Amino acid sequence: MKKNSIKLSEVTTYKFGGYCDNFFDVDDESINSEVNFNIKDQELLVLGNGSNLVFSDEGYKGTIVKPNINFIKLKDSNSILSLGASTYLPDIARFSKNNSIASLEWLIGIPGSVGGAVSMNAGAYGYEFADHIKSVKIYDIKSNKIEIKDKDYFEFSYRTAKNLDNKIILSVDLHVEKGNSQEIQKKISENLKRRKDTQPAGVYNAGSVFKNPKEGSAGFFIENAGLKGFSIEGVEVSQKHANFFVARKGSKAQSLFELTNYVKNEVFNKFDITLEEEIIFVGNFS
Ligand SMILES: Cc1cc2nc3c(=O)[nH]c(=O)nc-3n(C[C@H](O)[C@H](O)[C@H](O)COP(=O)(O)OP(=O)(O)OC[C@H]3O[C@@H](n4cnc5c(N)ncnc54)[C@H](O)[C@@H]3O)c2cc1C
Repeated sequence: MKKNSIKLSEVTTYKFGGYCDNFFDVDDESINSEVNFNIKDQELLVLGNGSNLVFSDEGYKGTIVKPNINFIKLKDSNSILSLGASTYLPDIARFSKNNSIASLEWLIGIPGSVGGAVSMNAGAYGYEFADHIKSVKIYDIKSNKIEIKDKDYFEFSYRTAKNLDNKIILSVDLHVEKGNSQEIQKKISENLKRRKDTQPAGVYNAGSVFKNPKEGSAGFFIENAGLKGFSIEGVEVSQKHANFFVARKGSKAQSLFELTNYVKNEVFNKFDITLEEEIIFVGNFS
């Protein structure tokens, strides 16, 4: 465990953000009381791969904890896949192919970590991370205890998990089943192609900006509000996928915040639909 000062633009896919002076790397599962986090409730942020987060240009005054716990292990006669919190989701898809494990191909195009996938209940193509979860090992900062919680504890729903305040996800056990390696490779290739065909590549973004409302796809409503290509100071509603907002190098988190609110208002005015953010803004925005 070490404490640093860090430039937040270097730890997120959007590349936004000022500095954080209280940044802790947690590098194994045996995190314990030696560390006095001294954290007030609202100040702690656990960082995964930063692929769903937007830090303010002013930086973050609270404490950030970044687990650096990376492993993929099969156990219990290959019926359980055990994953460290910082394991990169596409690595799990590749491991699943090499070890003939079915149903994890959808993770190939999601540039997040296991901790982020639990917290966001990440999903794609009909799957959600919660579908696979057996149990989650967490460190509770308030009680200073490591505990193993089963799936129900988190009350998962669409892109949401509950009961994670002041808790750091350390590792996760998934239920897995045997699959056919060639079929797995085929699905991985199909998923990659589908993403390449429909999503912007090579530009800073954090995936879908909004959750899909019950009325349909957020991208459909944004596109039909005529907003594809609309931009504010270098941050643009993607021409390729209207629910991806892409940022030019050097643009500001504040511009993304303004664009997000503008799009939300336009969609509400045109369709009477209130979009809810999937990306998470952290710090001061006005
Ligand atoms: C190109 C692109 C495509 C994407 N496609 C998809 C998609 O198809 N489906 C989808 O669901 N998402 C998608 N995303 C969004 C994102 O990748 C997912 O939400 C991912 O699960 C976030 O993981 P992360 O590690 O980056 O989390 P972060 O962005 O670092 O954090 C997200 C949330 O998780 C919490 N968190 C992270 N790690 C821990 C931990 N160890 N303990 C406790 N809390 C933690 C954070 O505090 C925060 O609240 C996409 C993003 C990009 C850039």
